[in-house]
Amino acid sequence: MLIAIVFGMSALMGYYSVETPVLLHLFYIPVVVTGSLQGQYRARLMALLCVLSSLIIFVPYLNEESVNEIPLMTLFAFLLWASMLVLIAIIVGSLSDGRRIAMAKLTEAHKKDVLTDALTEVANRRAYEFELTRRIAEWNRNGTTLSLILLDIDYFKNFNDRYGHQAGDAVLRAVADVLKTTIRETDLVARYGGEEFAVVLSDTSIERTKEVAERIRSLIESARFPFNGLILQLTVSAGFAQIRAGEDTTAFVQRADAALYSSKESGRNCIHFHDGSTCQLFGNGIATEITGKFRGEKPIRKAADPYTDETTGLPSQKVFLEELRRRAAERNRYGTKLSLAIIEFVDGTAQDIHARKSLLATISKLASSVLRDSDLIARYNANCLGILLPATDLQNTLMPMMRLCKNAAAYSDVKYAWLNFAVSIGTAEVLADEHPGTALQRVEAALKSANSAGGGCVHFHNGHECRTAEGSRFPQSI
Ligand code: GH3
Ligand code: MG
Ligand code: MG
Repeated sequence: MLIAIVFGMSALMGYYSVETPVLLHLFYIPVVVTGSLQGQYRARLMALLCVLSSLIIFVPYLNEESVNEIPLMTLFAFLLWASMLVLIAIIVGSLSDGRRIAMAKLTEAHKKDVLTDALTEVANRRAYEFELTRRIAEWNRNGTTLSLILLDIDYFKNFNDRYGHQAGDAVLRAVADVLKTTIRETDLVARYGGEEFAVVLSDTSIERTKEVAERIRSLIESARFPFNGLILQLTVSAGFAQIRAGEDTTAFVQRADAALYSSKESGRNCIHFHDGSTCQLFGNGIATEITGKFRGEKPIRKAADPYTDETTGLPSQKVFLEELRRRAAERNRYGTKLSLAIIEFVDGTAQDIHARKSLLATISKLASSVLRDSDLIARYNANCLGILLPATDLQNTLMPMMRLCKNAAAYSDVKYAWLNFAVSIGTAEVLADEHPGTALQRVEAALKSANSAGGGCVHFHNGHECRTAEGSRFPQSI
């Protein structure tokens, strides 16, 4: 239509032999309109068309005699006008192109935001539900088989409590990466809940789905996720189902969910498959606990977790030492304070395992009641707990340690009233540029000194010698 207008205008100018260059300015209108609606490329073409068609004003001069009579000013004004026209086409067109590109990016980002999980960058719950419904419709239409694997990270709450939410987030991203690299492009990975992932596989046999699920489980089990100097490790439980004739989305998801639930019930770190009537265990998954349901059906080993002390559920010595190394490096880098302590209990309970367990739980409870959330309590060895106190100097470490010693002296266990124990504490502040191993040796020397003083007291190492914390004598009867 604009082209027609341009030709129309040129024809009129030619017909009335219009030579007044002022009228040429009317051609700006189609160029500006094309530029703003269709971008730079089309605007330049339009400008060229305008220039060519407006040459019609020179037709009266096109015979032999008058060609030299074209006024120089008219020629100059024409050339100036033509260049202006092209320049306007370029400016308006590029502005409009820029706006269009920005809008396209915004739309794309919005689409991504709506369908992608921001943390792991896999599909989110909305995309998962949409895609599942779409693929079920495809199954009903073309008979393309469909499998759904649901995965849930085991004991993730404990994991967060132990290593912090940031470590949890990093691991969620890493697990999503494992999933993305395990599946085909046509399959879908989604995070449909906090630590719950789904894998939707189209046109895949049961055997192949089993392979994929087992590969995911074993890859995650054997993966080590480095985070802030710690090497983190976790497992997932999985359940899957393959769609059956006449099944709707809810029933299908419920079967996969029931299979996942069976894996959790069976001790986690394993996979179940819902065959339409029951959930069956398969794969090399090692469940971490024995439950009544599985006893006798399959020997289930207890998975060793080097990061957790089995008796107390506290972080293990490994975690304590890794954290000490990391915090000491942080202390050297940023000059923040760091103290540590070892609490030893001497019990007069002989070998009663339950009483001993209760004692450990009691001491860790007493310790956490005098410490801050940011302090770390770990099992250091059979009779000792290790404590790390970031951002704390020696003076501020002695106070809670003395309180702990005092509380332990006053404590009496309701269940094991006969339980007598004495608590000795050795502590020290990590010095500037000190090797964490040296700091640990000083703390052990302080603990030894507290024990040789008869126990029930707090000793500290000040960098030169072991000293008793004043007023820290809380003798307990053993
Ligand atoms: P189970 O083996 O039975 O699945 O135990 P669990 O602890 O994994 O399960 P539970 O449902 O009790 O806890 C899930 C935890 O996942 C609770 C929450 O702190 C954590 N979580 C959920 N979303 C996020 C997240 O986006 N980031 C982090 N770091 N943690 C999350
Ligand atoms: Mg869960
Ligand atoms: Mg979980």
